[in-house]
This record gives sequence, C-alpha cells and structure tokens, in this order.
Amino acid sequence: MNTPFRGDIGAAQRAAGIGMTSQRTRDRLIETLAELAPLDPRVLDVMRHVPRHLFVDEALSSRAYDNVSLPIGHGQTISQPLTVAQMTSALLEGPPMRRVLEIGTGCGYQTAVLAALIPEVVSIERIGALAAHARRVLRDLRIRNVALVVGDGSRGLADKGPYDGILMTAAAASLSPALFEQLADGGRLIAPVGSKEQALRRFTRTATGVHEELLGAAHFVPLRHGRS
Ligand code: SAH
Repeated sequence: MNTPFRGDIGAAQRAAGIGMTSQRTRDRLIETLAELAPLDPRVLDVMRHVPRHLFVDEALSSRAYDNVSLPIGHGQTISQPLTVAQMTSALLEGPPMRRVLEIGTGCGYQTAVLAALIPEVVSIERIGALAAHARRVLRDLRIRNVALVVGDGSRGLADKGPYDGILMTAAAASLSPALFEQLADGGRLIAPVGSKEQALRRFTRTATGVHEELLGAAHFVPLRHGRS
C-alpha cells in the first residue's frame, strides 16, 4: 500500500545536509521493527521517511534510528519507535479516519507520523516550550495538516472534536469520560492506562457502548494536569 507523505521531507533533508546515510539507518530501523511485531505496512512506509533525528537534540541524533526512547528535555521522552509503530497501527485498524487528536505532542515525531496518514491532526501539549519546538520542526518539514494546541489534554479537546481517533502518549491512572464523549461512532482511543503498572489499551466506541482491548504492557511518562 502506498501512502504519500504530506510534507516535503526531501527539502528538509537537503536543508539539514543529510541524505543517504540517514535513509540507510532508517531502513535498518524499519527492518528491525518489522521483525519485532505485526505492524501496519502503511505506518512502516511512513516511518521509513520521517526524519526522527530532526525531532531530537543534535547531540542525540546519532541514536535517533535506534529502537529506543530518548530524552527531549523537561523530564519528557520521545517514544520508542516500536511504540509509535504499534500505537499508530492499532489506531488505523478499522475504517479510514479523517480527524485525530493526539494528547502529548512532546517533540512532535508521533504527530508527524499521524499527519502523513490522516488528513487532519490536532495535537495538544501542556509544556509550552515542547509545543514551540514541535511547531518549528513540523513547519520546517512543511507539514501543514496539524493544529497544535498548548494546554491540558487530560479531558481531550472538545472544541475541535469529535475525533475518529484519539492517541494518548502519556499514561493516565484513569481515563476521563470526556475522552469517550469526543470519539465519533466507531472511533478508537489508544491509551496507556495505569500508574506503576501500565497497559496499552484500545477503546472503540460502538452504537452499544465502548469495546475495550488490551494491547500489551506499556512504559510511558505520566499524564499531568494543568499547563506548564
Ligand atoms: N509523542 C511524544 C511523546 C512525548 S512524552 C513524542 O514522541 O515525543 C508525553 C508528552 O505528554 C510529554 O511531552 C508531556 O508533557 C505530555 N503531557 C503530559 N500530560 C499532558 C496533558 N495533561 N496534556 C497534554 N500533554 C500532556
């Protein structure tokens, strides 16, 4: 399946003076991910092109294509590539999505992956400095189908809903009912739930209620309340 990348990665790469080397390391990462778990080929295709090294501090860019989470400042981390691939694959499974909400923009990498696959992406981040950084990188990559909001997304973002999907990238001890209310019929919410022990869960809103599935164990930074 061929998914066009919305954004001009080539131009961004030329501007950053990097070419084949990082493409090769990205290809290797994708091969690793494909061996680790069943993943949606559309997601892998997109991750083959999104330059993860541009989202992290230059000092860490040599590790950007290792399958690891990395610090992004403010006590937060960029999610491990396998986690991004699994969450996005779980989100996409089902009817096509038109609009999604990401809670926890962080450095914006997951946002860029979503933006390549879904026409409208809304992403909310409570730390203003992280949101500003993500905004800059997404703009440099000419990704234009993302609305970034600074604020507390623990109760979603009702103004811009309903959403066909909600992807939460920080772990909530429990999920606010407001999140389910903002899901369109058939909409999917992917979220790590729990405090000490976390589990990645998928909730699907159906005509008769919410259907819940366990996707696996998870290790996310905690969801916090209020802005920072
Ligand atoms: N997808 C991001 C993950 C970053 S870690 C990436 O790969 O870079 C999770 C992010 O969630 C952090 O940036 C943190 O500040 C943010 N976060 C935590 N609680 C939040 C809340 N209530 N509302 C919005 N963002 C929140």
